[in-house]
Amino acid sequence: MIEELIARAARDLINSQYAIALTGAGISTESGIPDFRGPSGIWTKNPEAERRAYRSYERFKSDPKGWWLERLTTPSLLGDLEQAQPNAGHYALAELERLGILKCVITQNVDGLHEKAGAGKLLEYHGSILKLRCISCNSRFSHHEFDLQKLMEEDALPPHCPKCDGIVKTDGVAFGEPIPGDVAHNSLEEAWRCDIMLICGTSAVVFPFANLPRTARERKIERERRTDTGLYAVEKVPAVTIIEVNAEPTPLTDEGISDYLIQGKTGEVLPAIVEQVKKLRM
Ligand SMILES: [Zn+2]
Repeated sequence: MIEELIARAARDLINSQYAIALTGAGISTESGIPDFRGPSGIWTKNPEAERRAYRSYERFKSDPKGWWLERLTTPSLLGDLEQAQPNAGHYALAELERLGILKCVITQNVDGLHEKAGAGKLLEYHGSILKLRCISCNSRFSHHEFDLQKLMEEDALPPHCPKCDGIVKTDGVAFGEPIPGDVAHNSLEEAWRCDIMLICGTSAVVFPFANLPRTARERKIERERRTDTGLYAVEKVPAVTIIEVNAEPTPLTDEGISDYLIQGKTGEVLPAIVEQVKKLRM
């Protein structure tokens, strides 16, 4: 029964010391964010755009000015992604954070919706469409900090970092581009530290992100157990409880990486968990 699983997740969260959430595309579909590889996905409908995307980072490195010009003069494949609004799933996670239970959200999504929902400690693994990033010092900037149109008119592209004069790119991680070092490092640290990992709307098959639940799963802690003869024995037990909230079972479910799956829409299950947490805490 889904109600029992929701109650179990709420109890696990309340008893945790350091809960974190991992999120992926599934949490944003209810905000109308298009996917890439589904039946009406962006790449499925436009394979030429996919081929171009694969070359994008290479092109940026060899010709950042040309890359920026192209970007500013062709309409975005993602449409008006900046207008998208968070849904009940994003707000539920932000509320769990305000309740002091959730300590960090690590997302694969570039849509910026966790930020708009008021997330506190947020690691955007693949960057954010709302930001630009210096490829030398990793400083992030809001779009509004650069007048890109003016730079184009003045033939002054690419934008340069005000801190180190490095070249500035969009923050979204392109194909072939390494995950920014700070985000990769901090995410791994969170996976090492957490005792609950709540995985929402992702099958975690894209590496290196997919390493995070697998790394957490391998962690063991030692616990003393009283044996039948009254003596104490030390046993190694998993250090993390991994909970999935997803519309379908995933490789994490099949490989036994998650402890249990709550099958349903993140926009419905996550608010139900928060309600339950509040009830139990009263
Ligand atoms: Zn810089």
